[in-house]
Amino acid sequence: MTVKTDLKNLTLPALEQFLQGQGKERFRAIQVFKWIFQKDACTFDEMTNISKELRRELTDTAVISNLEAEAVEEGSDGTRKYLFKLADGNGIESVLIPIEGRNTLCISSQAGCAMGCEFCLTGTFKLTRNLTTAEIVNQIMAVKRDLVRNPPTLPASAGESLVNNFDDDDDSDEHPPSPADIRNIVMMGMGEPLHNLDNVIPAIRIMIDGNGLQLSNRRVTVSTCGLVPEMERLGREIPNVNLAVSLNATTDELRDRIMPVNRRYPIKELLRACREFPLPGRRKVTFEYVMLGGLNDSLDDAKRLLRLISDIPNKVNLIPFNEFKGCGFRAPTRTAIDAFHKYLIDRHVTVITRDSRGSDISAACGQLKGRHVVD
Ligand code: SF4
Repeated sequence: MTVKTDLKNLTLPALEQFLQGQGKERFRAIQVFKWIFQKDACTFDEMTNISKELRRELTDTAVISNLEAEAVEEGSDGTRKYLFKLADGNGIESVLIPIEGRNTLCISSQAGCAMGCEFCLTGTFKLTRNLTTAEIVNQIMAVKRDLVRNPPTLPASAGESLVNNFDDDDDSDEHPPSPADIRNIVMMGMGEPLHNLDNVIPAIRIMIDGNGLQLSNRRVTVSTCGLVPEMERLGREIPNVNLAVSLNATTDELRDRIMPVNRRYPIKELLRACREFPLPGRRKVTFEYVMLGGLNDSLDDAKRLLRLISDIPNKVNLIPFNEFKGCGFRAPTRTAIDAFHKYLIDRHVTVITRDSRGSDISAACGQLKGRHVVD
């Protein structure tokens, strides 16, 4: 039996190649691609502007995969956590942070994670497998569908006071957003995206393709714990995407301890890769810093952090640690958070202390676990 090709795994050039292999003209690929990614067609029969013959041929050789959330939990602050069950039973999660016109979606790139960061709940789940390109883009498509069906209703206290860490507000070159638009994609859910680059790169190409999901590349952020050769590859292959680096320590001694990846790529090497990452114009590398009570939250840490990143265009996201059962780390005190934040702000660093959006539904950073598999 021939295995059918899932067309959601294919970028536009790959789809062109696939159709050319069946003797079809190039422009057919654009039509099919738009049906899949812009009109959300789930069957070939819906593709009314392509011939019945081609539709029949495609039905014999290809499929269009889909994901529907098995559960959606909504936090008191409007954050939505989507639980998806994959065809093989693995569970993954995506988190929507709704802000009118500036919805941000955090998506997963792997089921589990192999990086073993000590403070991370996702990391305790180990790596089960990489997500396919289709599974990555299907998270976005499923959430878009949900947003059309159930537009977010933000609490009265939301809006301006809710900070979207990955939105630079500069939308001068964009159309007015609709409440169902997803404006920012952050690859910071389950998994280390750069550990699955072969599938992540085509997924990003589909996201930013004008015939595909039509996202601006400056609205796509890839987060890494510091896989240096893969950062270099990402920069070569998709130079305009945003980079977020999960730093979390200012000495190799501590970083070796809490993030095993540091033993392979120590801080100096990681920062060199950040410096060389091809970011256009005024864009900055986002440094994520999970604050662990009594461990990396002192003013000495803030000083070292500033020294380390000062020659890289930077912004800093401080993420107060969310304690979970058996984790062995403490949340930082409010005083420590404020002092750290103030030290950086006073020295003209763009710093955001991430509020714990979604913490009541375990959707905050490092809390995604894909409950299907765990239950
Ligand atoms: S912090 Fe990121 S890279 Fe580290 S274990 Fe968790 S998901 Fe993996």
